[in-house]
Amino acid sequence: MKIVVTAGPTREHLDPVRFLSNPSTGKMGFAVAAEFARRGHKVTLVAGPVALPTPRGADRIDVVSARDMMRETARAAKGADVLVATAAVADWRPAACAKRKMKKSTMKPVLRLVRNPDVVKSVRGVRIKVGFAAETGDPVREAVRKCREKGLALVVANDVTAPGAGFGTDTNRVVLVRPDGGAERLPLMSKRMVARRIADAALRLAALDGGGGIS
Ligand code: C5P
Repeated sequence: MKIVVTAGPTREHLDPVRFLSNPSTGKMGFAVAAEFARRGHKVTLVAGPVALPTPRGADRIDVVSARDMMRETARAAKGADVLVATAAVADWRPAACAKRKMKKSTMKPVLRLVRNPDVVKSVRGVRIKVGFAAETGDPVREAVRKCREKGLALVVANDVTAPGAGFGTDTNRVVLVRPDGGAERLPLMSKRMVARRIADAALRLAALDGGGGIS
């Protein structure tokens, strides 16, 4: 099957040397891409700025901003079976990006921001979309809302404040949530194992959707 994975943070520049971003390291998305590639699927990994090696067998497209990620993901997703959106896309970007470094002596200490596109919500032409939800409370309720709002077949929800879960860790404790409210709580496990479970669930959904057998 044809699989697209988004991973890592995005950077939203206000000038050539300053940007807004977040602490995403890309570990979860790279583990997902590696798992699908290991199973022999055709994987395109659209990655924000991260310091990780490309998983063996995956095609990698490096991007910087949310708008770059939107463009490249839309291109890669045409005719794809599954999109797994693990990227921590910046919700906002500076309204303007200066061509040259702004001088702190003359720079105004006020940032005007505009909304970024929602990559997973906007992308068309892919059969099964899987999203993530990083929450700071019970994640299931919010995940169901996210499924419906963004047209996702599955949301991988986690409480980023729980020990061993979230940004930069090698482990994660997640709940796989369906639009109908069905939820499968997984114990704390390595991101590699979480990636396996996500691949299993996504391929099962793709098969049910009529896209051929599970491989
Ligand atoms: O709305 P929220 O940011 O919590 O949604 C998280 C999910 O949506 C993740 O799967 C993330 O990759 C995706 N997302 C996106 N583009 C955005 C914001 C979030 O693809 N601009």
